[in-house]
Amino acid sequence: MGLDEDALEYHRTEPPGKLEIATTKPTNTQRDLQLAYSPGVAAPCLAIDENSADAYEYTAKGNMVGVVSNGTAVLGLGDIGAQASKPVMEGKGVLFKRFADIDVFDVEMDEHDTQAFIDAVAAMEPTFGGINLEDISAPECFVMEEQLRERMDIPVFHDDQHGTAIISGAALINAAEISGKSLEDMRIVFSGAGASAIATARFYVSLGAKKENILMCDSSGIITEERAEAGDLNEYKRQFARDVPEGDLADAMDDADVFVGLSIGGIVSQEMVRSMNENPVIFAMANPDPEITYEDAKDARDDTVIMGTGRSDYPNQVNNVLGFPFIFRGALDVRATDINEDMKRAAAEALAELARKDVPDEVVKAYGDQPLQFGPEYIIPKPVDPRVLFEVAPAVAEAAMESGAARTELDTDEYVERLEA
Ligand code: NAP
Ligand code: MG
Repeated sequence: MGLDEDALEYHRTEPPGKLEIATTKPTNTQRDLQLAYSPGVAAPCLAIDENSADAYEYTAKGNMVGVVSNGTAVLGLGDIGAQASKPVMEGKGVLFKRFADIDVFDVEMDEHDTQAFIDAVAAMEPTFGGINLEDISAPECFVMEEQLRERMDIPVFHDDQHGTAIISGAALINAAEISGKSLEDMRIVFSGAGASAIATARFYVSLGAKKENILMCDSSGIITEERAEAGDLNEYKRQFARDVPEGDLADAMDDADVFVGLSIGGIVSQEMVRSMNENPVIFAMANPDPEITYEDAKDARDDTVIMGTGRSDYPNQVNNVLGFPFIFRGALDVRATDINEDMKRAAAEALAELARKDVPDEVVKAYGDQPLQFGPEYIIPKPVDPRVLFEVAPAVAEAAMESGAARTELDTDEYVERLEA
């Protein structure tokens, strides 16, 4: 109750909302205005007409991300529509600015038709250095992102898919290290087969997990070949169909090494946790209530349970803000044409690596009650850790240069210095 009232007041306070446009050049004199607008502005127009890459030299394109939604899967609130999604998209803009100094136009489009949405976003390419798709329902979100990545020469990144995949992927790399298991041997169970689960499963495979070791469950149970043949599954779920007997989540979790929850709260019991392999990894990421609580998962067994959730009040918070600001920072700074698999893997590896380093005092102070030394209770950096920018953005930029997605080269050491300044 208190929080809702405070949030309404926060948003209502003049000026309403959370963002405004600011100018970055002098605008005091008549001369300034002649340069900013007519007639002087014709010169950069003509330069860009000559060479379109000059848009990065003469406009704000290179530091501008479009946060685009049609409001069909807003937070956990469902299809509340484009207008009602605006506070979330403005909020995303706040995070981009606060964590990576990236400017955002939030674009809420009242458009449910997949093709019309794709066409509209593709037409906005001149405005932006990158597109962050946000809160769009599955499976349409997969089609939209696939086609837009193909059509557009700037990065298109659906954060609800890849943010979770990358951050929890970093956590998985470290969880494997701590539990002494290798990704390729781990038996991984997913609860959920929506936007975030499909993308996360794909990303784990890209990190080294074996597809044949993944069992995915949706609201009807294990995703099997039999269900695929019965025509019961969309093409994205079908990609994870396994030739196993039908069963429910409890059946799937028996002997699993890793549980990945991207479904709904409270559906995993202590009994199910006890049926897992030794030193299990449990990422219960449903928001706001995880598939099983931190306490229940920990108390279920005597060996080490490596537990992560989406919550800030427990260790190992899988929070997308650890990813998108810095991934876009690195991508924009090399004028990338894409955020490709190499760049995503580089981001996850940089996060995993950072969690193994000592934590600065300012971060320790901000989380007074939580252990911040590499181990089961600290496998991913904290969102407020300022070093995330200096580690992830350069890793992404470097991966972009190596994989051919960068339009410009930069010197990594100089770049890190520039970020730290
Ligand atoms: P989504 O696209 O709507 O997918 C939800 C999935 O959960 C669907 O596949 C649905 O099954 C499945 N499901 C529902 N009830 C289930 C049950 N009883 N057992 C097994 N699966 C069940 O949503 P999403 O965007 O992927 O998000 C899913 C959840 O993950 C949400 O709670 C969200 O808050 C959370 N999340 C957390 C983070 C984080 O960083 N912590 C990031 C992203 C998402 P059907 O396909 O059969 O309908
Ligand atoms: Mg979202």
